[in-house]
Amino acid sequence: MNRQGLLIVISGPSGAGKGTICQGLLNKNKDLCLSISCTTRAPRPGEVDGVNYFFVKKETFEKMIADNKLLEYAKVYDNYYGTPKHFVDDKLSNGQDVILEIDIQGALQIKEKYPKGVLIFVVPPGLSLLKERLIKRGTDPEESINKRLKCVCDELSNTKRYDYLIVNDTVDESIEQVESIIKAEKCRPSNFDISRFLKC
Ligand code: 5GP
Repeated sequence: MNRQGLLIVISGPSGAGKGTICQGLLNKNKDLCLSISCTTRAPRPGEVDGVNYFFVKKETFEKMIADNKLLEYAKVYDNYYGTPKHFVDDKLSNGQDVILEIDIQGALQIKEKYPKGVLIFVVPPGLSLLKERLIKRGTDPEESINKRLKCVCDELSNTKRYDYLIVNDTVDESIEQVESIIKAEKCRPSNFDISRFLKC
């Protein structure tokens, strides 16, 4: 019996550092893989199709919804975002762990479909720091930054629905915390690969 991979969902406000944490996790753990989402939003400078996202037209996205090709999807800041189903299902059934960097609406859909999925919410150390990080990142216009900051308070009220919460004081520490969570989750009896034990 092969162990089914672990599905790890990472959410948090824009600028909380989710992307950096995920990248760090991928660099350190070659067995982990990241699902690339589809979105109808326009690429930001430097973003590459098929690397950061699959950038698709609204009609294409709506066809994917109709054809049941998405594991979850949500409208975030007026654009659609969704997780392609086949990639995640293939990796999980091959025993590979998969990270999804998605918003709360999507995370809760995942928990319904995959109760064993682990939901991790990342928060920045404070709201003023979050604004500072978004401005420094320089990828979003001011109007968009203000819109995102307004959503943060709503988002924070939903963190109780997550399994874990990480305060991203330093990236290295946050990466270690996620790694510890993954290790602990794999020790749950329901996730334990009993075939390893039987071979002894
Ligand atoms: P951004 O436009 O900054 O790349 O992403 C905006 C928000 O969409 C972030 O909170 C990000 O986590 C979320 N997001 C990215 N991909 C997906 C996805 O496939 N599904 C859902 N539900 N949210 C996503």
